[in-house]
Amino acid sequence: MKNRIVLFGLLVSLLLGCVEKSKNNKPVEEQKVTTASDLESTSKPDVFYQYSIWFAFVNKVFDGDLKVSELKTKGDIGLGSFDYLDGELVMLDGVPYRIRENGEITVGQDEDEIVYSDATFFKEDGVFKISGPMDYTSFQKRLNTEMESEHYFYAYRVPIKLDYIKLGGVPKVEKPFTDGLDLLLPIRPVFEAENISGTLVGFYCPEYVGNINAFGHHFHFISDDRKWGGHVMDFKTSHDINVPWDQKTSYAFDLPKNETFENVKLDSEFQYN
Ligand SMILES: [Zn+2]
Repeated sequence: MKNRIVLFGLLVSLLLGCVEKSKNNKPVEEQKVTTASDLESTSKPDVFYQYSIWFAFVNKVFDGDLKVSELKTKGDIGLGSFDYLDGELVMLDGVPYRIRENGEITVGQDEDEIVYSDATFFKEDGVFKISGPMDYTSFQKRLNTEMESEHYFYAYRVPIKLDYIKLGGVPKVEKPFTDGLDLLLPIRPVFEAENISGTLVGFYCPEYVGNINAFGHHFHFISDDRKWGGHVMDFKTSHDINVPWDQKTSYAFDLPKNETFENVKLDSEFQYN
């Protein structure tokens, strides 16, 4: 019985200690006050955003209704393609670059429309270093080993010096859309460059995403001089790479609101990398 009283007393004093401790928290004037810039950064959603679905894109839904001005509200990095495949898209620091099939690069205007896009506000969760030499395949394998879990989404914004890069564009199409990506990608324009520096913008989607997005890594590139860009097909580097990464646990997508999407036959399945 005595032991119980001692134990009870000990518990009471522990509890009182806790209360006392919370009373002794930092004085009010030292407590963090939320500033306008804090609000601005927290108000940007920590979401992996996607426009249209991969299943629609591979089944020839090549006219979207997402305006560039709307995409800018969904992220400051992104990748995708413009309407009618009139250019690959890579967004960096909120600037949406358009790489046309002849390799010309311009900045997408607010009224321009996008057919497919991944985007997010990049919020760095960490950085890891990869020692060169390295090619694109080994780079992707290394990302897989570094990620905490392959069940989350990841965004990457990687400054990189390259010995070589092979980039893919998209061939512009007109209505009626007859050929799907399975036929168009093998004839896509290809741009190759050597001794070039720039930024890789990319995303990783888990396998369970199915037909909504493409499983695995997907990267686009824009050079520092903004003269080279597109879908990354291959690269080689002898330099070390610091890889800033951002894990995403929220995912959202919008669907095209038009007749092409309403009437599309979702039958062709096609994954690429
Ligand atoms: Zn791409």
